[in-house]
Amino acid sequence: MIQRLLFDLDNTLYSARFGLEEKVAQRIIQYAAQYLRLSPEETAALRKKGETRYGTTLEWLIAEKGFADIEDYYRAVHPKNEADTLPPDPELRSFLEALPCPKAILTNSNREHADLVLGKLGLEGLFTHIFDIRWNGFKGKPRPEVFLRALDTLGTKPEDTLFVDDYPRYAEGFLAIGGKGVLLDEFDEHPDYPHPRIRKLEEVTRFLEWGASG
Ligand SMILES: [Mg+2]
Repeated sequence: MIQRLLFDLDNTLYSARFGLEEKVAQRIIQYAAQYLRLSPEETAALRKKGETRYGTTLEWLIAEKGFADIEDYYRAVHPKNEADTLPPDPELRSFLEALPCPKAILTNSNREHADLVLGKLGLEGLFTHIFDIRWNGFKGKPRPEVFLRALDTLGTKPEDTLFVDDYPRYAEGFLAIGGKGVLLDEFDEHPDYPHPRIRKLEEVTRFLEWGASG
């Protein structure tokens, strides 16, 4: 039985149609391109090569490109007005409040971004923990140790935890450690994904009875 819910933040607790994360991704590539003195296209191609080794572009820049100015990176990637288009979502708040188990967030972004987004959505105070990339030493999902560290802090086991993310690699990463990982595929972009998949966050209720045997 599911005892805990763990949610991704971006494009999971709000729709991808707001374009927020898309713009963040553009700023990340622009920033990395400037740092590497390459074109955005060259940078994106280079980043793609290291995609499976590093959960985030920041992690890749630190590990392979000698990058160190993390705070400057975050200032550029997450400007103060980045979430201004995000409307409050009182329906989602009611839905999350009614769920029968405690909820937490695991994001590959930073805490300031998470707090800003949750504030705009009106979802403050609903989550027992917000595990951000700084907390994880700038190592991101889908690394097993990132998931396991969060679960350890929550005092729960993978098989008792439902994790929802809009990235197939991250949902699969949670399955790989024996957890219940669900892909949120809002626009049906991954019809051949072989594991549990939902189109709307509200469908998580289907999985709350997911037993320990899977
Ligand atoms: Mg996401």
